[in-house]
Amino acid sequence: MIIVLLGPPGAGKGTQGERLAARLDVPKIATGDVLRAAVRDGTPLGLEAKAAMDRGDLVPDEVIMGIMKDALASPSAANGAILDGVVRTTPQADGVAAMLDGLGRRVDAVLLFDIAEDELVRRLSGRTTCDACQRPFFGRQPGEPCEVDGKAGVLVRRKDDEPDAVRKRLQVYRDQTAPVINWYEQHGPRVVHIDAIGSLEEVEARALLALGY
Ligand code: AMP
Repeated sequence: MIIVLLGPPGAGKGTQGERLAARLDVPKIATGDVLRAAVRDGTPLGLEAKAAMDRGDLVPDEVIMGIMKDALASPSAANGAILDGVVRTTPQADGVAAMLDGLGRRVDAVLLFDIAEDELVRRLSGRTTCDACQRPFFGRQPGEPCEVDGKAGVLVRRKDDEPDAVRKRLQVYRDQTAPVINWYEQHGPRVVHIDAIGSLEEVEARALLALGY
């Protein structure tokens, strides 16, 4: 199954994407994670993407399509994938559909994580992220150790979780990503709304139910 997760920053796509990926035994493909790793490693991709990411802007569609071409064709995605934060513009929706078509596949489900904006701002402003495994933490301070994944990462405040960048990301979501909902309504598959407020288990159960589990 190819599953697209849509929703504003802070809605829980990454966390739920990871849970769904483990549950369905398919990889999670998150362009944000790929880009952050590239920035950390100082690769040409990272150098190209860093300024836009720090501002809370999107990186160019061509860059995302380059990442997705390899990711979707990878043998690890042969049984499906969870696309987390990947389709952020309508050209990306077109591009992913064309790539999948070329592989004889298609998007099977689109889940939209619904959440109010004031809750997003509250979540993102209290979030720290492990610089190694990229897991988010709430109520823990920058500089604390992560330890969850055994890599002993350090918790950092993402530059794009600073208030100005959060405002910018929400604006970008409204302007550029929200139209993707309409795109899928027109092209299919049907967009299923998931109430993103609740415990991790509750939201996961709603997502699994929407997927027919
Ligand atoms: P995320 O971790 O999904 O919140 O992504 C962090 C940042 O990476 C975004 O604010 C964008 O700057 C960039 N990014 C990630 N995925 C995409 C995408 N599909 N299209 C454009 N920019 C992206």
